[in-house]
Amino acid sequence: MTGIDISENVEKRKELIKRHIPILSLREMEMEDKLQFHWPTISRVITQRFGERPEVYGQWGQKGHTGLDFRVLREGTPISSVHTGIIRKIVAGSQGYGNYVNIQGGYYGLRNGEINFDAWVEYEYKYAHLAEPPTHIRIGQIVQGCDFIGLAGNTGFSSGAHLHFSMRVIDDSPYPPEGQEAYPNQYINPEPFFQHYEYEYA
Ligand SMILES: [Zn+2]
Repeated sequence: MTGIDISENVEKRKELIKRHIPILSLREMEMEDKLQFHWPTISRVITQRFGERPEVYGQWGQKGHTGLDFRVLREGTPISSVHTGIIRKIVAGSQGYGNYVNIQGGYYGLRNGEINFDAWVEYEYKYAHLAEPPTHIRIGQIVQGCDFIGLAGNTGFSSGAHLHFSMRVIDDSPYPPEGQEAYPNQYINPEPFFQHYEYEYA
């Protein structure tokens, strides 16, 4: 993991991650023309999909569940990063998300087997309900896919240990993606980026 200067200056930050991400995410692209995530938990089970239970999430002004819930066998099992990004927030004890980490990343896509520098999309990833706020990572640090993020827990608005993972399109990146409807705060469904795995629903 590498530390870089993460300026509050948006333009400077953008330049930093645009410069780092194509190099760091080469092992993740596997030269496919689509974003491919690493599965963040040990169990290959999704317990709640994106958009489910609008009657619950309506109270927060959302159309439905804003992310994916991943099963964990028990509290304290490891959570790993789905893709390259920069640690932006480490939060303790929020009412909804409990202990959580926000990571800022993005993707260029490929064109004819080369990085397509015209097609930058910027994302914010959230890993929520962690057992405790991680102390081994710090703001501004770069993590890659499969890097250790924290321990699964049951903090915040959560009934049973699980990982809530969500992603938003941020800054002026195109939104919503083709075939998806717009959500408040520009959430998108992360599930298409896990299609290279075999998994189940519970
Ligand atoms: Zn959730």
